[in-house]
Amino acid sequence: SGEITFEDVNFSYDGRTSALNGVSFKVPKGSSVALVGESGAGKSTILRLLYRFYDLGEGQGRILIDGQDIRDVTQKSLRQAVGVVPQDSVLFNSSIGYNIGYGKLGSTPDEIEAAAKSAQMHDRIMSFPDGYDTKVGERGVRLSGGEKQRVAIARTLLKNPPILLLDEATSALDTSTEKDIQKALQNLVKGRSSLSIAHRLSTIASADLILVLREGQIIEQGSFKELLAIE
Ligand code: ADP
Ligand code: ADP
Repeated sequence: SGEITFEDVNFSYDGRTSALNGVSFKVPKGSSVALVGESGAGKSTILRLLYRFYDLGEGQGRILIDGQDIRDVTQKSLRQAVGVVPQDSVLFNSSIGYNIGYGKLGSTPDEIEAAAKSAQMHDRIMSFPDGYDTKVGERGVRLSGGEKQRVAIARTLLKNPPILLLDEATSALDTSTEKDIQKALQNLVKGRSSLSIAHRLSTIASADLILVLREGQIIEQGSFKELLAIE
């Protein structure tokens, strides 16, 4: 499972100005789609609608997952099917292992460790986000923004949803961890359907399909190579 379809989606926050205007696209099962476009183009609105922060009204089009209108899916099963990796992840003041384990309650330590490993966070599984290390009982280095994001990635890996929503907007991460994040993201995206608000060149270049948005409309679409050829 994991096919996403937007069918002629129109959406307005205030009933007057259009945030999305006739947006149609398909994310085939297991493929990655990158959303690009300037601020206000409608990228976040697409993710918010898919996660049902807002619902489409009558005549505003349809959003389908595996052919089913998401308005007919319970919030619970939608949240099981869709994993979200936000830019700024809020972590509990508890161990990294606990924070990762929250992705799927009842996970075994082995499962948590495997997820941590895929995100290169297994060395810090016993420490807290503020750096307190329960193993040595000392305060160490607090997690960087990039490490926090990798904890969120590991948490989502454990949850193992067929669909992923990624927001790379407002990326203010130190470049030293950039490679580790990219690797963790690759592990996460592999084999899932993903929809990313893409800022990293690597995310855009490796996407199966890039949708270029402007003022609520898809103005261009294709692979990275295809879009380069148009320019
Ligand atoms: P970000 O800039 O982090 O993507 P949002 O996605 O929340 O922030 O907002 C995107 C745009 O929508 C911004 O231009 C913001 O000013 C506008 N916006 C956000 N919330 C509201 C609101 N409640 N009313 C009007 N405009 C809003
Ligand atoms: P992007 O993610 O591409 O920056 P958004 O989807 O956030 O764009 O915004 C699309 C349009 O909807 C913009 O005109 C923005 O100002 C408006 N908008 C976004 N969020 C809100 C909101 N919460 N209330 C009112 N308008 C909003």
